[in-house]
Amino acid sequence: MDTTVGAILRRFRQLLLGLPWDGVPRSFIVDLLQFCASSKRVIRTRIVEGGRTTVAEWANQNLLHLYVDSGDFAFVGVSMSELVRASSIDQSCEPHELEFGAVLGYPDCCCRFIATRTEAQIDDVGEEQKAWRFEGEFRLINPTGYSQGRALISHLPCSTNCKPSLDLAWKAVRLLEEEFELPANPLEWSSVVFREYGQP
Ligand SMILES: [Zn+2]
Repeated sequence: MDTTVGAILRRFRQLLLGLPWDGVPRSFIVDLLQFCASSKRVIRTRIVEGGRTTVAEWANQNLLHLYVDSGDFAFVGVSMSELVRASSIDQSCEPHELEFGAVLGYPDCCCRFIATRTEAQIDDVGEEQKAWRFEGEFRLINPTGYSQGRALISHLPCSTNCKPSLDLAWKAVRLLEEEFELPANPLEWSSVVFREYGQP
């Protein structure tokens, strides 16, 4: 596989160009960004009601697979067996924060952090992080705009100075800088993408 920046960028553009915007939540483009920029291989998302067919077609056209589980979640990635495995870990009744986070490409430290709180509390953790102060370049790992597509990482970082999360954020910034004129606050990157690709 060609992994040069140019090839990754072409891939990202291609995925955005045909994306059925009304079939996926806004957070999906943050997942897609990390999917292209980092070694993330599996995306977990929720398909918007009625969007399943168009998202499946989009995945198919891009040589990706879509797996919708028996609950709320959909998985997107290059390998169907990885998606099925991700879903089965996700639905397991055993504690699975470490294993599942690894499948989604999240840093170990951040998976361990979530494991101390359990996945059931993940929404509470997300709420608490709205009060966290990210300073300097660590502002790039602020996850609180994720659901609006205003984030560079697709997981909750373990601290306000998590270096592995910062590495993921910088990978995303470097990819975006190749293509777009980024706003002064790079967390707002998706506004440029929405403008360019027609998302209202
Ligand atoms: Zn971390």
